[in-house]
Amino acid sequence: MEDLTRLIDRLETDQVLNREDFIRLIREHTPDTDEYLFQKADRLRQQSYGNEIYIRGLIELTNYCKNDCLYCGIRRSNRSAQRYRLDQEDIMECCRTGYELGFRTFVLQGGEDGWYTDEKVCRILTSIKHDYPDCAVTLSLGERSRKTYQAWFDAGADRYLLRHETATPEHYAKLHPPELSLAHRMECLRDLKEIGYQTGCGFMVGSPFQTTEHLAEDLLYIHKLRPQMVGIGPFIPHHDTPFAKEPAGTVNDTLFFLAIIRLMLPKVLLPATTALGTIDPNGREKGVHAGANVIMPNLSPLSVRKKYMLYDNKISTGEEAAESIDSLRKRMAAIGCQVIVGRGDYKK
Ligand code: SAM
Repeated sequence: MEDLTRLIDRLETDQVLNREDFIRLIREHTPDTDEYLFQKADRLRQQSYGNEIYIRGLIELTNYCKNDCLYCGIRRSNRSAQRYRLDQEDIMECCRTGYELGFRTFVLQGGEDGWYTDEKVCRILTSIKHDYPDCAVTLSLGERSRKTYQAWFDAGADRYLLRHETATPEHYAKLHPPELSLAHRMECLRDLKEIGYQTGCGFMVGSPFQTTEHLAEDLLYIHKLRPQMVGIGPFIPHHDTPFAKEPAGTVNDTLFFLAIIRLMLPKVLLPATTALGTIDPNGREKGVHAGANVIMPNLSPLSVRKKYMLYDNKISTGEEAAESIDSLRKRMAAIGCQVIVGRGDYKK
């Protein structure tokens, strides 16, 4: 049987494996083969982006959500969540702070909250683009119509993050309420890409009921979609959700999938996520060594940070906080990387 390191070589050359080979790699990888994989991913990151690490200022607009995803702490049926939303003025204030700190991408993320009408989001985008023409804006506001995505793109949005969560319909149905479907999520992703957004999909590592076959399907979907960004991080339980007692995903599994994705898409914008930083204080550094090249510190107003609790113990201080950017710079410098001031676009 083919040695696992040869399989990793083949993944690097072909940028994909067939379903059986992905399953074998996921089942049989060892600390030694991981080391081999991480080195390749680290090298590819450097070939694509040198020693540059891109930063994004994450502004968590709202924790109101009409959806009821079983894993998520801001799901609508969590009565204990203290709800908040930021208005245009609050958001502009975050951008002002972020710009001064050196952020040139703002990520507007939130629950699916109808208060943010198409027009309101267009006004916010126009205002950010007017005041900060050298900045990129990423939206992560969930599933909307193609018409809305087009309007937001026309108003200046550059990128859109919408994790597909899992590429297997049966698994999707176990993580989401019946009114949500994988088919619609994927339609949104296709629309976003066609409109011209730098588009990001992704999934949680170690989500409840996840199998090796599901993960292989996620990788095949990513290969097919060819997104410019991929967001993956460990699933972490939230005590007020039906998955409160489920185990969290692991650091090593997350690093393993980050590295595989870097081999599949050498140019992809790949964040070392907050969730990874939450389960490991050195998560960002480890993520970078496994191929990640993006970090998204929290730029939300301090007064709401604790309210955007997607999972238990979600970090929002220390190097996770935008205002601590200097210590993040130092930590990245210590591993030979440089946090850059710039939009940090996808390199074609
Ligand atoms: N509403 C938008 C959407 O659904 O894309 C954006 C906000 S949503 C809270 C952002 C991401 O948080 C989701 O795509 C999901 O993968 C992640 N997330 C939610 N609950 C989580 C948990 N318990 N552990 C890890 N990640 C979680």
